Amino acid sequence: MVFDIKEYNHELVAFGSDAASGLRAIIAIHSTQLGPSLGGCRMFPYKNESEAVKDALRLSQGMTKKSALANLKLGGGKSVIIGNPRTKKSRDLFLAMGEFVDKMKGQYIISEDFGSSMHDMQIICERTSHVVGLSLKHGGSGDPSIFTALGIMKGMQAAASYKFGDSSLKNKKIIVQGLGHVGSYLCKLLHKEGAQLFVYDPQSSPVKKIVEKYNAIPITEKEILTKEADIFSPCALGAVLNSVTIPKLKVSIIAGAANNQLKQESDGQLLRDNNILYAPDFIINAGGLINVSYEGPFYKKEIPLKHLNIISSTLTEVFTIADSENIPSSKAANLLAEERLNNAT
Ligand code: NAD
Repeated sequence: MVFDIKEYNHELVAFGSDAASGLRAIIAIHSTQLGPSLGGCRMFPYKNESEAVKDALRLSQGMTKKSALANLKLGGGKSVIIGNPRTKKSRDLFLAMGEFVDKMKGQYIISEDFGSSMHDMQIICERTSHVVGLSLKHGGSGDPSIFTALGIMKGMQAAASYKFGDSSLKNKKIIVQGLGHVGSYLCKLLHKEGAQLFVYDPQSSPVKKIVEKYNAIPITEKEILTKEADIFSPCALGAVLNSVTIPKLKVSIIAGAANNQLKQESDGQLLRDNNILYAPDFIINAGGLINVSYEGPFYKKEIPLKHLNIISSTLTEVFTIADSENIPSSKAANLLAEERLNNAT
């Protein structure tokens, strides 16, 4: 496992293990420049530890940019637990994870992500106070995925307005990849807006539910990349946009929740060359982060709901910079995030 420490530029990376519960986890704190680092806990059956470290490093870098572009006083961090969330979850595992998080003394605040849930955060909260995304019943701000989905929809409307000159999603053909927490809420919102949905998830039960409830059309994993549609919304894993997939895509806009959708930076240029408007993931998927940032005894959902509008305005700013400078939207977003971080020092 060889890493260029300078390239990733993290403040701290910690490894945590607990033999009794089987915990093998990593906490990556990329930056606390704007405030304590906050980021979800990903539980995933990584092939090896090197893959898990790389994921934690990349995801936490993304969180720094996400907080800066959402105008939050938070830094970037992320944690990963190595293991299959369907078979390896246990109460003891999340208690041990809570102890690990507590050792960071508030410089890392944990919340849910792919493979972890609000219920898991509830267990973690027994061992540390540095956790958000708890249920309303337990003094939290509820499921952040609802806000993430709402932010994605607002971002889609901003992208539609920029690309088609009309923000309406009525009768727009939208492909949703992944029907988990965010993907399924998103389908509900898009159906309400009158969009025609095309959906895929490797699990059959969420597909069945979404097809029945929202009149969605199920498609295969292969069709996700080749189906003609207005918008593609990746809401599962990262690296779905790469030199193999991008040339196959027949969509005008990409706007989804998954983190690190571009496999590499140059894929942003490839999207631009293919005339696809890309809404950078770390701007459009900030809704959940915005919501949990207000968690506390005075939480009122109206305040984060208002803050969500920053997603549309930042995206429009980024699309405009990208066109005026003739650069990919992903690069424009990186430059804007850097500018915000530099101005904060
Ligand atoms: P989740 O674990 O609830 O759901 C993920 C879904 O993706 C599952 O239904 C799974 O079966 C499906 N999936 C797995 N492999 C797939 C594949 N190859 N093709 C299609 N579907 C596949 O996760 P989530 O909370 O909905 O988050 C989805 C993505 O959005 C993740 O990348 C996460 O990091 C990102 N994200 C989530 C939030 C949030 O608030 N939950 C916020 C920001 C970003």
